[in-house]
Amino acid sequence: MRDIVRLLKLAWPHRAWLLAALGLSLATLLANVGLLALSGWFIAAMALAGISGVPMNYYYPAAGIRALAICRTLGRYAERVVGHQASLRILAGLRVWIYRRIEPLAPARLEGYASGDLLSRIRADIDSLDTFYLRLLAPVLTALCAGLLFIMFLWCFSPAVALATAGLLLVAGGFLPLVVHLLGRKPGARVTWTSSELRTAVVDGLRGMEELLAYDAAERQKERVKELNRRLLADQARLAGLSGISAGGVGLCSGLALWLALVISIPLVRTGSLSGPQMVMLGLFCQAAFEAALPLPSAFRLLGQALAAARRIFFLVDEPPAVREPHEPAPPPENAALSLRGVGFSYGDGAATLERIDLELSPGRKVAVVGGSGAGKSTLLALLLRFREYDSGSIILGGREIREYDGEDVRRLMAVAGQQPFLFNATLRENLLIARFGAGEDEMVAAARMAGVHDEIAALAHGYDTEAGEGGVKLSGGQVRRLAIARAILKDSPVLLLDEPTEGMDAAAARSLLERVFQYAEGRALLVITHSRIGLEAMDEVALMDEGRIVERGSHAQLLARSRRYRDMWALDDGMTER
Ligand code: ADP
Repeated sequence: MRDIVRLLKLAWPHRAWLLAALGLSLATLLANVGLLALSGWFIAAMALAGISGVPMNYYYPAAGIRALAICRTLGRYAERVVGHQASLRILAGLRVWIYRRIEPLAPARLEGYASGDLLSRIRADIDSLDTFYLRLLAPVLTALCAGLLFIMFLWCFSPAVALATAGLLLVAGGFLPLVVHLLGRKPGARVTWTSSELRTAVVDGLRGMEELLAYDAAERQKERVKELNRRLLADQARLAGLSGISAGGVGLCSGLALWLALVISIPLVRTGSLSGPQMVMLGLFCQAAFEAALPLPSAFRLLGQALAAARRIFFLVDEPPAVREPHEPAPPPENAALSLRGVGFSYGDGAATLERIDLELSPGRKVAVVGGSGAGKSTLLALLLRFREYDSGSIILGGREIREYDGEDVRRLMAVAGQQPFLFNATLRENLLIARFGAGEDEMVAAARMAGVHDEIAALAHGYDTEAGEGGVKLSGGQVRRLAIARAILKDSPVLLLDEPTEGMDAAAARSLLERVFQYAEGRALLVITHSRIGLEAMDEVALMDEGRIVERGSHAQLLARSRRYRDMWALDDGMTER
């Protein structure tokens, strides 16, 4: 029920469209039922007039029939147009709403969702809410209003016919939908979940096709997709079966209503309290009235599916963001001096990932954080970028605690080239320019040159207009990494954060890249995370990290002289990178 109330609240801004759709659908329904009833009355009255030879004014009823027929046709068209307009507006509003709600969740809170699942929630689940507004809410309200009007109308001629029809309407519009809802709830929810699983399996299978083929696992993945597909089809068949039975049920009720109306009204005609044409009119009216109940069972069949979709969306958007933005953010920092004092952080599993981290990173200073894999270096970057909230200690930026600023103001000061940079399925130019829209061609080329990737781009047939492919598949890992560095350089921020910038490069290329980066970083704060020793001699400070702590710090030369652990690290590394 709470979910239904929430869905109604979300549609509230579009209530005028919904009401218009409702009014039109009610008018169309009334016109249709009125048309049948009036036609029945008219034909019977004309026949009687013919037999008895009594003259009859047929202009008014004929005009009424024509008017109702026109109203029905136009109403049906307008109802469709306005109904879809209402539902499209609601869906568009929902999409913006869900985007606004999940944006603060990225990246930390969205890590737990498979990309196919997330896509399902954002697209398919939102789409299936269409069912809720257009095929459930509108028909239920229309049926309620129309049902009341129908019963009132019948009551004027025969309370018994009115009561019998009301009972059958309740069966067709209340009991049947309830049964269908109860029977369809589980398969309906399963359809939502299985569709999402299927989408995830297909997306994963396509993205990991290379691995699947290399490990001869494609057949297994295919079987999994087939099995999910089989389950989905089985549940969809169950729901379709329910639909068929419910439509049959409504048809039966409508036939019964006609029969009952005749059984009740024939004696009334005999006693003279009802005329013959009125009896025909009542019979046809009762039968046609079930048009109001016709969409209800299938609407309730879809209710399970729509509610499961709503729950999946609400579950996603209700996740608390990893970082809460301040209610009244401080004005953007005036300078980019960063100072970490006793910073601690844990991913929530109890074990501390970072402990008592102290670091000074001011403009003009170059700091390297070195350490083995899993030491917590990338986590440190996530804290600086406000993607994660630190648990203890303080991070001061421009004289204030970093959490006092709006996250976007903080990130505006920082340019980052992460360990696994993401390239959009767009041209290389577009991928570079996301760092600074409006940057000139010469600035972009200069940044690419600095990152050592310009010559390779220029050698491509389409140069900077080459498509990167999904996730940058058309480029080598090294090219993606250098493109990410070029992007960070192009941003022209006072703080530059580089995570493993020379990974996978030979020593000479790594050295020349770092030399250019150091030159660019003059006057800026530079933090390099690395486990290569190349370029460390040029750093103002090197911090050695191990298991979330800084265990040694000083210049490269000092550490070489002082720390056995530091020397041991490079002795290992010598064999790996500086061959
Ligand atoms: P490094 O960059 O030094 O290789 P990370 O900062 O990536 O190290 O990881 C530090 C530790 O935190 C590792 O033990 C890793 O398993 C854990 N970790 C990293 N990311 C997450 C995450 N999203 N959720 C839980 N634990 C994580």
